Amino acid sequence: METEFWQRDIELMSRADLEAFQLGCLKKTLKLAAHSPFYSNILTESVIDSIRTLDDIRRLPLVDKQTLRDNFPYGFLAKPMTEIVRLHSSSGTTGTPTVVFHTQHDLDLWANMTARSAFMAGARPDDVFQNIMGYGLFTGGLGFHYGMEKLGALVIPSAAGNSKRQIWFMQTFGTTVCHILPSYSMRLLSFFPECGIRPKDLKLRIFFIGAEPHSDALRRQIEEAFGVQAFNSYGLSEMCGPGLAFECRERNNGMHLWEDQYLMEIIDPATGEVLPDGEEGELVLTSLQREAMPLIRYRTHDLTRIIPEPCPCGRTHRRIARFKGRSDDMLIINGVNIFPQQIEKAVMSVPEIGAHYIIEVSKENLLDRIHVKVEVNPNSFSGSLDQMDGIRRKVIDALKTELGVNPRVDLVAPNSLPEQEGKAKRVFDLREKDYL
Ligand code: ADP
Ligand code: ZN
Repeated sequence: METEFWQRDIELMSRADLEAFQLGCLKKTLKLAAHSPFYSNILTESVIDSIRTLDDIRRLPLVDKQTLRDNFPYGFLAKPMTEIVRLHSSSGTTGTPTVVFHTQHDLDLWANMTARSAFMAGARPDDVFQNIMGYGLFTGGLGFHYGMEKLGALVIPSAAGNSKRQIWFMQTFGTTVCHILPSYSMRLLSFFPECGIRPKDLKLRIFFIGAEPHSDALRRQIEEAFGVQAFNSYGLSEMCGPGLAFECRERNNGMHLWEDQYLMEIIDPATGEVLPDGEEGELVLTSLQREAMPLIRYRTHDLTRIIPEPCPCGRTHRRIARFKGRSDDMLIINGVNIFPQQIEKAVMSVPEIGAHYIIEVSKENLLDRIHVKVEVNPNSFSGSLDQMDGIRRKVIDALKTELGVNPRVDLVAPNSLPEQEGKAKRVFDLREKDYL
C-alpha cells in the first residue's frame, strides 16, 4: 500500500532542503528571541551573526526547567502581550510547573503538528476521536483537540476520569481513535466487566498513548486488551505539547520528530557535550517556528537516541527511540543505576501480572532497598497461597535477571493500588527527607 501524507512536501523534504530550511528558521528564531528579557543579553547582534551553520548553535547556552522557573513568569516572552492568546503549563512532575505562552500562530502550528501526527498513524476525517486527557492547563487535552478538528474527525472532548462514562461514549458514538495515558488505559480496562461489554466488541482501532514513560511490553498489553494499534506520542509543554514526535505506521519503536519545527541534539547529560547520532543521551530541543516563547537548546532531561537510518515509510524527519526515562528518574540503588521502565519491563514479562505497580525505595541498615508492589492480573488472581507465591517468585526472578538486584516483591489484589489522577506516579523514594 502506498503511504499517504498529510503534508507531503514537508514530510518528504530531502535532508539537504530540510537542513537549509532549519537554518533559515533558526536565524529568524534567534532574532525574535533576542526581544525577550532573558535572551536580550545573550543574543546580541554579533552572537546572532556568528551562527552560520546548524552546528554553530552549540556555542549558545543550554537552558532547562530551572532557567524557566528563575525567569517566571514573563522572562522568556518575545512578543508583546497584545499577541499572546493562551498559556499552558507543564504537569509539574518534577517540581513547580513551568508556564508556556502561545500566539495564535503558535497554536495553529501546533494543531497542524498534531493533525500531521494523527494522520501519519492512520486517523482520517471519518474517525470518531475520544480525547481522554485532562483539559485545561495540561497540554494533552487542547493540544490534540484542535489537531483532530483540523483533520476533520468528530472530536469527543471527554477529558480524563469518569471511566464508565468513557465506555458509554465509546459504545454510543462508535469511537474509533482514542488519546489516552498508557497507565489509565489499563485502569479503564477494569471497568468494562461492570459495563457488560468487552473492549473488542467496540469499534476502537487506534490509540495514541504517551505523556509518560512506558515500555513496549505495556504497549503490547494495551493493544491486546483493546484490540487496537497503539502509537507512541511524545511531547512536552515547553515545546507546545503532544505532536512533537510520533510513531508512524511502521511502529518500529522510533518516533519521527518533526524537524521542520524543532532542531534536536543529543547531549551527554553530565558534560553537556553533543553526542553523535545513535548514541544515547539527553534530548535537547530548539523551537524553530514558535513566536511567543522561543526556546533555544532546551534540556528536556528525557533520555533517548537518534535513529539515523531512514524509515521505510519514506519520511525524512529522523526518529528518536522509545524513551528510557527522565535523567531525573534514575534511581541509584547501592551504586547501580536503575530506571523505573526496566522494572516495568521485568514485571510485565510475567503474564499473571496486571499493569499496575509501584516502586518504593528505602534505606535498611545503610543499604538501599527496592520494594515492588504489583497487582495480579484479575484472571490469575486466586485464593491459593501456593499459586500466588509461585507468581511472586517469577516476578523476583525476572527482576533479578533484568536488574541484577534482589528486591522485595509483594503481590496485591487487582485494582487495589490507589487510583491516580493524571500521569502515573510509580516511584516513591522514601530515602528523600522531604518526602510527603
Ligand atoms: P512535566 O515535565 O511536568 O511532566 P509535561 O506535561 O510537559 O510536564 O510533560 C512532558 C514530559 O512527559 C516529557 O518531558 C517526558 O518526560 C514525558 N513524556 C511525554 N511523552 C512521553 C512518551 N511518549 N514517552 C516517555 N515520556 C514521555
Ligand atoms: Zn516512518
